[in-house]
Amino acid sequence: MTTENDIETNDGFEEAYTDAPPWEIGRPQPEIVRLAEQGGISGDVLDVGCGTGENALYLATRGHDVVGIDASSTAIDRATEKGQDRVLDATFRVSNALGLSDLDRQFDTAIDSGLFHVFSDTERSIFVDGLRSRLHQGGRYQMLCFSDREPGTWGPRRVSRDEIEATFTGDWVVDEIQPTQFELNIESGGVHAWRATVTRL
Ligand code: SAH
Repeated sequence: MTTENDIETNDGFEEAYTDAPPWEIGRPQPEIVRLAEQGGISGDVLDVGCGTGENALYLATRGHDVVGIDASSTAIDRATEKGQDRVLDATFRVSNALGLSDLDRQFDTAIDSGLFHVFSDTERSIFVDGLRSRLHQGGRYQMLCFSDREPGTWGPRRVSRDEIEATFTGDWVVDEIQPTQFELNIESGGVHAWRATVTRL
């Protein structure tokens, strides 16, 4: 399946899904589970860059109405199949997270597990403008990204606290930025990450 706004930069991800990419841990990210259990996720949820859907499907089991979008049609096909197999009601769509204003509805929460850290500076600002349009007033963006505390240069960009704060200015409030882990299916298990909560005013 392809869409009009297919993404040139997506080739790497589409290819990654022919194998088991490092972020495919076969379960929701523990930090997303913790956040949900602590009440950090409310109402209707948009999962941006949902991959094969483990986080979205977990939130569906908790009764949320969830829409997951991803640029990779392979990932979306897998997420859709998992939803059918598990008899869970979640919607998955191939869509560009840099064109979020094209989506036809708004949400109470947007979750992001490992998308923000793939964007360039210019893409960050395009993404954030679109995100703003998809959240109700008072809606929250819950983000999990690689942190600058993680050494090395392999994988995605490292993101600093200051960068998160500088990205969400104006109509946003950064409520918290907490150090945590992003689990991967590599030997060392996980990497240093930030979990940030940002509210749309
Ligand atoms: N959230 C998932 C996947 C993280 S990997 C998880 O936690 O397992 C990052 C995901 O973002 C990949 O699935 C990739 O295909 C997707 N992605 C990258 N750029 C994108 C874009 N511009 N629009 C939509 N999805 C994108």
